[in-house]
Amino acid sequence: MKRIAILGSTGSIGTQTLDIVREQKDIEVAALCAGRNTALLERQIREFSPKAAALWEEADARELKSRVRDLPVKILWGMEGLLTIARMEGYEILVTAIVGMLGIRPTIAAIKAGKTIALANKETLVTAGHLIMPLAAKMQVPILPVDSEHSAIFQSLNGERGNRIHKILLTASGGPFRGRKRQELAAVRVEDALKHPNWSMGKKITVDSATMVNKGLEVMEARWLFDVVPSQVQVVVHPQSVVHSMVEFEDGAVMAQLGTPDMRLPIQYALYYPMRRPLSGKRLDFYELSSITFEKPDLDTFSGLALAYRALGEGGNIPTAYNAANEKAVALFLERKISFLEIPELIQGSMEKVKYREHPALEEILETEQEVYQWIESRW
Ligand code: NDP
Repeated sequence: MKRIAILGSTGSIGTQTLDIVREQKDIEVAALCAGRNTALLERQIREFSPKAAALWEEADARELKSRVRDLPVKILWGMEGLLTIARMEGYEILVTAIVGMLGIRPTIAAIKAGKTIALANKETLVTAGHLIMPLAAKMQVPILPVDSEHSAIFQSLNGERGNRIHKILLTASGGPFRGRKRQELAAVRVEDALKHPNWSMGKKITVDSATMVNKGLEVMEARWLFDVVPSQVQVVVHPQSVVHSMVEFEDGAVMAQLGTPDMRLPIQYALYYPMRRPLSGKRLDFYELSSITFEKPDLDTFSGLALAYRALGEGGNIPTAYNAANEKAVALFLERKISFLEIPELIQGSMEKVKYREHPALEEILETEQEVYQWIESRW
């Protein structure tokens, strides 16, 4: 019996993780946590019987507590709630499916408690990879990627221990605006940005895919997960999303992982690693696949991707500035307060404005986040 806890159980990754629990029938859910979706969390508690559950706001948690008073479940709230779940006994794998930098502290707490991390929350590694990876190594805690590209890289490295990576080929669908030029993006609406051609995901990551900032975040995530330098990560646009990513070795051999665009596969792989399990759903039909194509990304139009390489090159707290500015800018775009093209502009401005810190400690990462938020807010 596997025992897991999920941070972000009501979101896209969280609900798909619970689909796997339903299908596989040998996973026990020890704890669940969500932001504000009390109704769905209540249904999940009734179905999966966790020992603990958390919401962000105290008032929501109190309401939930009263709704599930017939059940033996402990209801928690706020950052303390997340940290308690991260550290609690009774499970081995923490699925970090929360969105944003909020995931940093619970992830660190879970590693310190010896939990295996099934990591979807890429913002955590982007901003605190220099703290998290050495800590995980020290605690001998595996960080198993859930992001489909990183899972593909991880799978391509199977059996290759001791062989050096020459290059990571990180594939990108190109999002809904692939092929468009900068001036054509000036007036795009929230609805246009939320129409991803291949994947169904949460709103923030869907906008990140449209700006290609998501690929930028993934370049940084790959840097930490696979211990490579930025020049070893090459982004390749592949509109069909069939090749989920590839690794080129020193002899020129390229290993790839292919599949239909279904996040349940990388989630399940992380939960059962190194074993594979049957999984329902559509399979690749190579007779139907008329063509699979590859292109160079357009870094002038999708400047958010170019800025990610710059942030990684500058290092220190600049990736945090990049990520925090993006989180704020995407929220403002979704509220229709800024235009699509202002997202990379705010990222660039924040990277240039923020006070540089070479080896930021956790507190300095969180200070940088606040500094960026204040700078962006001061513009209104
Ligand atoms: P969603 O927006 O769908 O879900 C986010 C989850 O986090 C929800 O359960 C939400 O709860 C919860 N949450 C939000 N705020 C808080 C808070 N303050 N306290 C506690 N919980 C909170 O996001 P996704 O599932 O799309 O993405 C999650 C992470 O996984 C992101 O880092 C993303 O980049 C990454 N990822 C996602 C992929 C995908 O296919 N979706 C693919 C690869 C990576 P509530 O519903 O109550 O608001």
